[in-house]
Amino acid sequence: MDSKELISRDKQCVMQTYGRFPIAIDHGQGALLYDTEGKEYVDFTSGIGVNCLGYGNWKWASAVGAQALKLQHISNLFYSEPYIALAEQLCARSGMSAAFFANGGGEANEGMIKLARKYSYDKYGHGRSTIITLNNSFHGRTITTLSATGQAVFHQYFFPFTEGFRYAEANDIESIRESGGDDVCAVMLELVQGEGGVYPMEQEFVHQLAVLCAENDWLLLVDEVQTGVGRTGTLFAYQQYGILPDVVSFAKGIGGGLPLGGILANEKCKGVLGPGMHATTFGGNPVACAGALSVLEQLDDSVLEEVKIKGELIRDYVEGLHSPYVAGTRGLGLMIGIQIRGIGHKELAQKCMDAGLLVLTAGKDTLRLLPPLTITREEIMRGLELLRGVLCDA
Ligand SMILES: *Cc1c(COP(=O)(O)O)cnc(C)c1O
Repeated sequence: MDSKELISRDKQCVMQTYGRFPIAIDHGQGALLYDTEGKEYVDFTSGIGVNCLGYGNWKWASAVGAQALKLQHISNLFYSEPYIALAEQLCARSGMSAAFFANGGGEANEGMIKLARKYSYDKYGHGRSTIITLNNSFHGRTITTLSATGQAVFHQYFFPFTEGFRYAEANDIESIRESGGDDVCAVMLELVQGEGGVYPMEQEFVHQLAVLCAENDWLLLVDEVQTGVGRTGTLFAYQQYGILPDVVSFAKGIGGGLPLGGILANEKCKGVLGPGMHATTFGGNPVACAGALSVLEQLDDSVLEEVKIKGELIRDYVEGLHSPYVAGTRGLGLMIGIQIRGIGHKELAQKCMDAGLLVLTAGKDTLRLLPPLTITREEIMRGLELLRGVLCDA
């Protein structure tokens, strides 16, 4: 089956909601992918930060396969070990106190928002339900998480949106203060804005924000759907900011490629949602949890330390390129943004693909790199040489 034929079949029967690149991927190994024509690509996308262990990972596939044969699903009306073991592991390595599992990032954030409003309702009653979020943020595609997203382009077509979100400026504590008020129950943010263009929060801003939240009993909600699960060089990015959120959400990388997400609450918030208040049929599915347990086992301290080193290696290389198109780099660990000038970022991404390198775009003018966390130095150098060809000879 060649890609042209697949694309034409897609156009016949699939809703055209994605601006896809004209490539059909067939399989992968390590950090390499192969399309239906057999062309090889170095993958600096990992399926938008999902495939943290790359492709063809035996330990992960065996754990998933064994669980699929043993018990593929049991409703959340019963106990099952993978759910519990994963919650234990996540709590032990995050400093948080209890987990709830969902199926993806938007759904995880919905749970985080519900928890924040319930916490405030229990303590203060009606009228204290507004959540401050940041301009240029991204929190998901459900009606409520679109509302939470601080970008006007997402607030179209689907009216009415959920009320109760107010947008403030990132890295500007005065802007948060000005957005505050008696109606506020929480502040929600990404520590590195991903879809918005790979913009890291400053240490000082995050420290001041944590203090401001504590003073007002606003919950500090951290959306780690993209930054979590080792992406930035620690299991969660907040661990590099010296704070403990009230609630943190995660998704993308946790299942190693299987759909899984969730939230972790601290001691103060772990009991806010009681029986019947929040639920999902598939959340914490045993197969997805078995995959996640293998992910956590493989992302040990030395692998996480390597994520930081590899991230620096990539940024140093790109900054040393003398390309007319590179205005600088940003990021944390293996979440890297390259600020592009003088050419469209989408056009550059397409040129990379033609050359055999898969990259992502973000914001208006940023190339975004999210390679598998287990990518080897050799694979990194192959990818970087392809990138140099595009950035310097184009
Ligand atoms: C991807 C992403 C989401 C949405 O996750 P889905 O699994 O697509 O629902 C939410 N927040 C952030 C920060 C993300 O990067």
